[in-house]
Amino acid sequence: MKRGSFQEMKALNKSIILMKILNDGPISRAQIAKETKLTPPTVGTLVRELIEKKMVLESSQGESKGGRKPTMLIINQKAYYIIGLDAGPTKIDAILTDLSGKVISNIEYKLSLPLTEDEFLTSLIEATEAILEQSTEYIDDIIGIGVAMHGVVDAETGYSLYAPNLDLYNMPISDTLANHFSYIVKVENDARALALAENWFGQGKNSERLVVVNIGTGVGAGVTIDGELYRGESYIAGEIGHMTIDLKGEVCTCGNRGCLQTLISGPAISTRTKKMIDEGAVTSLSEVKDLTSLDVYQAAEAGDAFAREVLRETGSYIGIGLTNLIHTLNPSQIVLSGGVSKAGKYILPTIKATIDKRALTKTAKQTMVNITELGDHASALGAVALIIVELFAKNGEITI
Ligand SMILES: [Zn+2]
Repeated sequence: MKRGSFQEMKALNKSIILMKILNDGPISRAQIAKETKLTPPTVGTLVRELIEKKMVLESSQGESKGGRKPTMLIINQKAYYIIGLDAGPTKIDAILTDLSGKVISNIEYKLSLPLTEDEFLTSLIEATEAILEQSTEYIDDIIGIGVAMHGVVDAETGYSLYAPNLDLYNMPISDTLANHFSYIVKVENDARALALAENWFGQGKNSERLVVVNIGTGVGAGVTIDGELYRGESYIAGEIGHMTIDLKGEVCTCGNRGCLQTLISGPAISTRTKKMIDEGAVTSLSEVKDLTSLDVYQAAEAGDAFAREVLRETGSYIGIGLTNLIHTLNPSQIVLSGGVSKAGKYILPTIKATIDKRALTKTAKQTMVNITELGDHASALGAVALIIVELFAKNGEITI
């Protein structure tokens, strides 16, 4: 066997063992061998290597079926640490986590707008330096920096091709950070990073076909299939905010009419509410100046019947969009994220009722729809997941 292919085989086997311990640990060596069909000596050798590299720990003794109790193996979640940056249009959320995604420290770096391409790259360096300063005791065990970037991202080269909300183009994010910090750097669009976060740390852990729909100022989706991101031919897979729902609808930021985004985004909710108030709707919101979707949510919480109806209606529009998604991708689960998803208790019932009414088959009607539980660092956790994938994958760029 050629050395190259031997190394490949070893990397593949190591990845299989790591994933087995991650998903099913605590687990014994014998059980790993049985379930992965690798030979016990292969498992023994690779596990010894993983223990030497601190990646795997021997844990408590398992149940014995007669004879000696087997030693159980678990992933050492505190072996290595990762920096995750969520580079939004107004601020950078920087976190340091262990391998389980537990946030050890975080900082918020405000961007001083407007900025040039170079100034934005400098901001990323400064945000990383700030989180490193807070994390000195972990510095030797940091293995990489992940970046979740809004807009169009070329994940292969680590370039931000276009950041619409900052109006910046062609920024070499990966090269800039890698040259400055000598860590591996991975960059991905924020909606896709979010999907990876749900897949590794959130409700999508066991979903083979997962779609995460982010509903905020804009609307986008990330798709993972068997734990891998689906990006499409030219990185626009998941742009569901711009699927046409109403041929005669409102004009969208993209120039088309009646996109899903014009019905369900935060700004769309406030625009529709204002229009209905002008048409005579009775609500406590008629007194509110510069009405936002947050005002609508708060009024609903305070018992305003009109505000609750606006959100229920938004839920039925979201349900129509998700039914289209179900018919296109047939996912096992959809997780909703972003500001609008915080109104889950008002939108979820009509989302589910709409899918139940419109989806083609019984199982499609029952597609799981959940609201994210990842909290405020969700996108930064997605950035962390970009590095974790490299650590566990057979072709990953991180060798320990
Ligand atoms: Zn559009």
